Amino acid sequence: MNWGLIGGGEGSQIGPAHRIGASLDGFFTLAAGALDIDPVKGKSFAQRLGIASDRSYADWREMLSGEMSRDDRVDLVTVATPNASHFEITKAFLDAGFNVLCEKPMTTTADQGLEIVQAADNAGKICAVNFGYSGYALVRHMRAMIARGDLGRVRLIKAEFAHGFHADASDADNPRLRWRYDPAQAGVSAVFADAGIHAFHMACFVSGQQAVNVSADFASCLDGRALEDDAMINMRMDGGAICRLWTSAIAVGRMHGLTIQVFGENGGLRWAQEWPNQLYWTPLNGRTETIERGADGLSPEADSASRVTVGHAEGMPLAFANLYMDLGAAISAQKEGRDVDPIHAHFPNARDGHHTVAVVEAAARSAERQGEWTKV
Ligand code: NAD
Repeated sequence: MNWGLIGGGEGSQIGPAHRIGASLDGFFTLAAGALDIDPVKGKSFAQRLGIASDRSYADWREMLSGEMSRDDRVDLVTVATPNASHFEITKAFLDAGFNVLCEKPMTTTADQGLEIVQAADNAGKICAVNFGYSGYALVRHMRAMIARGDLGRVRLIKAEFAHGFHADASDADNPRLRWRYDPAQAGVSAVFADAGIHAFHMACFVSGQQAVNVSADFASCLDGRALEDDAMINMRMDGGAICRLWTSAIAVGRMHGLTIQVFGENGGLRWAQEWPNQLYWTPLNGRTETIERGADGLSPEADSASRVTVGHAEGMPLAFANLYMDLGAAISAQKEGRDVDPIHAHFPNARDGHHTVAVVEAAARSAERQGEWTKV
């Protein structure tokens, strides 16, 4: 199938992981792109990646009209531009009948998120959201263990995404940082919308629960920052669990810092993105067991998401590849008018995109009112 990419230009942070992920299983060929805010750089990079010159577009509007007029139009468009442009681009492509994978956060407001849900429903097309860490085999295994009841009732979820890469005051003019702290570009939140949102999505993904009430403390630790670079958020989930989430961009020495811990009445699970091939399971009153990715006896969800032999490291681009594998299966089923195999129904969708943005908004409102408990 033909795949199109918007953003993700040369030197971007996330472009390479999408290109590796989309190409891994042979579902997608990179056929069209508007890769850069600078049209000359974007076209030149597109051609170096093997995109035909008539499909190396100067910008996304040109790509939309160019692809609409083709019989071999792209089957999936990935939107990997900075946050403020996600809504307009994603909605325009859905309205024109394309399937879309949008980077997170899907939108900068919850109202826009709802419009995207409606646009996807109206078009009958897929809108997926790249909460790519949900593609890790052992994250899918956590979800399967919780769903089949191994933990019993989930009491507490502790989620973190705390790194230290925005802690240098002398780096304030770096263009890749600046948009993240500019309310016109980023919306009502910086680090929660940018990083913490992954930890929150993961809490929902593994537990099957959503947030109903939030209480948040936002802090801007560097002078002149209009949006938060550190936040602590307490949540009450609709399935009865408590969720506590810490996100930070000033935690010097922490690298990626995405971790998820789930504690139920029958045991606890711990997983960290920087050591993704091990999951720790402690049954109540029992010994801690290390569950290795790729080992025998894991859930079908983990087996289908695991690519290389046990003992060999798998990382983030392969987690993204699992979302692309699911999308490849779902779009093939869509084209053939049949249901998709449920094993491939795990990719985050526009409803997840909307809920996560609604929680960011509720947290920002709560933080403005000194942590007052606020309904999502
Ligand atoms: P970046 O600043 O490194 O790169 C952005 C790229 O988009 C650049 O190539 C830029 O030229 C291009 N671009 C900007 N505006 C454009 C436009 N209108 N049309 C076409 N191209 C345009 O940013 P990044 O860190 O790669 O982040 C991009 C998006 O990916 C953000 O929404 C970010 O939140 C998300 N992201 C997701 C993950 C993840 O794990 N899912 C990780 C990092 C970033």
